[in-house]
Amino acid sequence: MRLTVIGCSGSHPGPDSACSSYLVEHQGFRLLLDLGNGALGELQKHVDPRDLDALFLTHLHGDHWLDLVPLAHVRRHHPDGRVPWPLPVFAPSADRDRISGAFGRADLDDVFDFRRPADTAVGPFTVRVVRTSHPVETYAVRVESAGRALVYTADTGWFPELVRFAGSADVLLAEAGFVDGAANPSGVHLTATQAGELAKEANAGRLVVTHVAPWHDAAAQVRTAAAAFGGPTELARRGVAFDV
Ligand SMILES: [Zn+2]
Ligand SMILES: [Zn+2]
Repeated sequence: MRLTVIGCSGSHPGPDSACSSYLVEHQGFRLLLDLGNGALGELQKHVDPRDLDALFLTHLHGDHWLDLVPLAHVRRHHPDGRVPWPLPVFAPSADRDRISGAFGRADLDDVFDFRRPADTAVGPFTVRVVRTSHPVETYAVRVESAGRALVYTADTGWFPELVRFAGSADVLLAEAGFVDGAANPSGVHLTATQAGELAKEANAGRLVVTHVAPWHDAAAQVRTAAAAFGGPTELARRGVAFDV
C-alpha cells in the first residue's frame, strides 16, 4: 500500500502544510485518514476528492476533520453533478451534534454515511482501532493489507497498550506534538522521545514523525525521535509518499 502525506501540521495549519490528513491507497482503493483544516486543497493534487472510497476521522478536534465541510460542498455541487452515493465516514459518534453544527444543517446523509470506528474490513484493507489517551474520544488506526501494516497513532499521550497495537508495523506514523522537557500535560500528545520509544518497543520498520506544530523545530523533533528509536526515521512533509 502507499501512504501520501496530505497534511501534517500539528494543531494548526502552518506555512508549509495543512493539518492532519493521510491518503492510503491499495488496489485502486482510496482510504483517507483524517481531513484537517486546509487539507482539501492539497488533496486535490493527488486525487479528485469525489473519488475517495472511505474516510476515517480519528477524532473531532478541528485539525483532524474540519475540511469535511468543504468536502460536502464538492460532493453536492460539482458542475459534473452530485456524487450519487454517500461516502463512508468512520467517526466518533458521541459528538455527532458537533459535526452537524459545523455545517449548520443536520441532514448530511446524502453525502456522508457515518459509521462508528471499529475493527472492520474497508475495501482491500483490514482496519483495527484502539481508543487513545486524548481529551476527546480518539482512535489510533492500524491498516493492514497483503501482509503489510501501517499504524497511525492519531493524537495521544503515552499508554502502554499502544506498543502492542503498533507491534511490528512496517510504517509507524506517530505524532510528536510535544517537545521533551516542556511542562507537558499528560494524556494529550507524545513527545519526540516517546514517539521514538514507541517505534523501538513496537519493533517498527520505519518511523514517520508527524503533527509537529509550526512553532516547534520539526528537524529537532525528528532528531530526538530518531535517537530514541535507533531505526529509520523521517519527518512527514506535505505531499511526500511512502511505500508501506
Ligand atoms: Zn491534532
Ligand atoms: Zn486532538
